Amino acid sequence: MIKASDSAMRTKKKKDKYRLLGLCADCGKPVEPGYRMCRKCISGDRKTCRSWYRKNRERKLLYARKRKKWLKENGMCANCGNELDEDVDYGKATCQNCREGLYSDTDLTRGKQWKLLKSKSR
Ligand SMILES: [Zn+2]
Ligand SMILES: [Zn+2]
Repeated sequence: MIKASDSAMRTKKKKDKYRLLGLCADCGKPVEPGYRMCRKCISGDRKTCRSWYRKNRERKLLYARKRKKWLKENGMCANCGNELDEDVDYGKATCQNCREGLYSDTDLTRGKQWKLLKSKSR
């Protein structure tokens, strides 16, 4: 049977090991220079981090959905925002470049660029 104190000891041992390796004592990630914890754990406990992360993810998902819908309605690629070619891209949600993997959407996931796109089309 595992006593509560045993698991506490184990946690402590794990934390000591992390510290020896120069890793965050809380989560084992690389630490921030000059700190004993990683950036996430410095900015708050992991619970806060996780709820923040979840909230942020929901917001991102919502945003991505809205963006996709808007782009589709305006005849633009759902991935990169370029105008779709009526012949080549007919009935498709993404442009040929994206379908062939020439573009990634990393640059366009930022709200700024979407807003720029939106203001341009008006
Ligand atoms: Zn950490
Ligand atoms: Zn595209």
